[in-house]
Amino acid sequence: MATSLRTATQPIPKTITTLVSTGVLSTAAAHITIGDSLVTAVWSTMPFACIDWLLGDTASKGPVHYTSDQVPVVQRRSCGWLPGPGPHWEVVTAHRCERCTEMIGPPALAEPGHLTGSKLIDLAREVAELANDERESQRRKLIAHLAGDTERLARSMADHILRMRYTN
Ligand SMILES: [Zn+2]
Repeated sequence: MATSLRTATQPIPKTITTLVSTGVLSTAAAHITIGDSLVTAVWSTMPFACIDWLLGDTASKGPVHYTSDQVPVVQRRSCGWLPGPGPHWEVVTAHRCERCTEMIGPPALAEPGHLTGSKLIDLAREVAELANDERESQRRKLIAHLAGDTERLARSMADHILRMRYTN
């Protein structure tokens, strides 16, 4: 009871969000002021979906997409060891796939301060790189899956050929 009272009486910090251009392809950024804290959030504007959805399972998580004017939720990171002085922030872009329980969403990073110039570009490049790596990883998973399908099809065709050619 005491805990819920304390939580209820905590003031919600005022949040001001301003979109900023990164100059890096397929990334977007915002300067966010949460209470007294300045945060820069950068996210990939590329859509990401569950591999099973890509392979046609419509019950799996479809594309999670934040366009350049859709600022994801930014929150104080609550766990995990991090270097440097806090507070540390995280951009919440990942959503759980109900089917396989994997977290699906575009890469995103947050840094303290309102970054501009080369610091903003560096952060955006890092996000773009993470997004490209994730796409490449999805590509490899799809190839592995499709290669398995192709092999199964080839085996059944080979069996069929053997039956056809040797029974006459
Ligand atoms: Zn899934």
